[in-house]
Amino acid sequence: MPWAPVPFAEVYPLVTARAVARPFTYAVPEEAPLGVGSIVRVPFGRSRARGIVTALVETAPPGIEPRRIEAVVGEVPPTLVELALWLADYYGSTPARALALVAPETPKRRKEQAPPAERQALAGEAAPAELSAEQRAAVARVVDGPPGNLLLHGATGSGKTEVYLQACAAMLERGLGTIILVPEIALAPQTVGRVRARFGNRVAILHSGLSDAERRDERERIASGEARIVVGARSAVFAPIRGLGLIVVDEEHDPSYKQDSDPRYDARTVAAKRASLERAVAVFASATPRPESWATLERLELGGRIGAALPPVRIVDLRREAGYPLSAPLLAELRRVAEHRGKAILLLNRRGVAPALHCRACGTTIRCPNCDVALVLHADGSLRCHHCGHAASSPATCPACGSPDLARLGAGTQKLERELARELPELELIRLDADAVGKPEELAASLRRFAAAQGAVLLGTQMVAKGHHFAGVELAAVVDADTGLGLPDFRAEERTFQLITQLAGRSGRDAPGRVLVQTFQPDARPIAHAARHDVTRFLAEELERRRSLGYPPFAHLVRIVVTGPELEQVVRALEELKAGISGTELLGPAALLRLRGRHRAQLVAKTPRPRAIATQAAHLLSAAAPNMRRAGLTAVVDVDPQSV
Ligand SMILES: [Zn+2]
Ligand SMILES: [Zn+2]
Repeated sequence: MPWAPVPFAEVYPLVTARAVARPFTYAVPEEAPLGVGSIVRVPFGRSRARGIVTALVETAPPGIEPRRIEAVVGEVPPTLVELALWLADYYGSTPARALALVAPETPKRRKEQAPPAERQALAGEAAPAELSAEQRAAVARVVDGPPGNLLLHGATGSGKTEVYLQACAAMLERGLGTIILVPEIALAPQTVGRVRARFGNRVAILHSGLSDAERRDERERIASGEARIVVGARSAVFAPIRGLGLIVVDEEHDPSYKQDSDPRYDARTVAAKRASLERAVAVFASATPRPESWATLERLELGGRIGAALPPVRIVDLRREAGYPLSAPLLAELRRVAEHRGKAILLLNRRGVAPALHCRACGTTIRCPNCDVALVLHADGSLRCHHCGHAASSPATCPACGSPDLARLGAGTQKLERELARELPELELIRLDADAVGKPEELAASLRRFAAAQGAVLLGTQMVAKGHHFAGVELAAVVDADTGLGLPDFRAEERTFQLITQLAGRSGRDAPGRVLVQTFQPDARPIAHAARHDVTRFLAEELERRRSLGYPPFAHLVRIVVTGPELEQVVRALEELKAGISGTELLGPAALLRLRGRHRAQLVAKTPRPRAIATQAAHLLSAAAPNMRRAGLTAVVDVDPQSV
């Protein structure tokens, strides 16, 4: 860090209030050299705050007698300060909230601790595999080409991981570090295992399951340069690595890369920005890339699966086949699996027993009292809201008309589990959903059980379709491909296509696999293309649709949601906001589902200049803040939202 004989520093105190979204000038103590990125303790108001130095200046603003910085308590690389300030501006957040992402508070060390056991149990470096010509070309482009953003595209099993591991090794040889982002550590045990096996104690792992002490140790290993490779979920994009050569975003289509609380950043966009600030390469890897990545990134194609064909997909038309959720063809396939004592994966992207209770006499669907959604029947007899957590016992009669004739509509994972237990008692059932596996350890334990099992079914929500690789899965089935298609969301088709294609890739990695897709809409575009593994065609058509509707990548979306106790006030606040924003067309205000007892409505901008809109909205909202607070209104500005 450059020592700076400069009298004053601009410091952002790391406080969350929107009202103090500006830097404050402090006097630099002579004995404490500091620079941009220094984490300091400063007097702030009547108390103290942690803060980050964002600039060194010669003079203080006129009429101000700056207070002194009390201590320097740490530092982050200056590039991360630049990244955070950009992030605050782009996503309409405050600099302090964004800076807190790059300088998270860590508790003080109490005593020396033994490093986590897993760090000692490292396997030796695995022998690099023989690369295909496509893989070699891809590695060469990443390592020897100019910096930039690359899409690494290839079917499941085409060797994408090996490409970025070799690129990572080449960077390491040049003294450059790598960040590897995965959607969720617990869902990527094989990827993490391979990185560890290859690079041993040069790897740091950041994830939500770490204790505070472990997280601090990992951050220290990164900051000191001992760990040059970081694997982690979304927030690892801010890892304090110096001399960054490569950022890999694995499974780049995964929606969990977007944070859904302020700052609402997208780790993929931040990865691209960080790479450009550091002149590093960003590699976005997926078998089912986002349309925006497909259209805008330089592509590295790996082609099909190495050494085996992708499994054939059979569509089961539920309009013609009885027996939902287990149709006759699906049952027949499962019986074959049971005979071989093999394995199957079943995806049903809906939790509980039945997604709705419906009165046959009067037509009432039992709804959440706080939200405009149907309550979901669970196996313990409760009715639960999947948005606000409201739970009640399931009534014997209709609350509206008293009729006992209540029908359970549809099927969820718990019903599927019950029916499987009845029809195929010889198969071990391992359920993977938010009710069955609440914690990362439970999830990891379930995945290990399935890996070791003989004659087993892994069933669950979209969790089962993520990047696990299990030997000997002979059948993969989508129980209801239509669950996501009815959602009023511009990504509904993209998500459906990704889910089916990803699940199909889970089958037959070393066996002749079979894939079954049950649907009431066999002709729907995402289902038909996924059945043919036709990623290219799906993306071409999806991009055409997006172009005609002005969706990303042809425009950015900015979504402004206001919630409050009365719909009328919510709508009025949005109308005032709309009147104050210039330079773009805003759609709305449109009312949304009421959630958690609060009315909601939104404005949506389709714009080439999302920053300008977000900045205008943020200014208007902070001016309106006192009035909105009095009326009980809250507002959220979401740049590049994942759904609208
Ligand atoms: Zn009724
Ligand atoms: Zn609710």
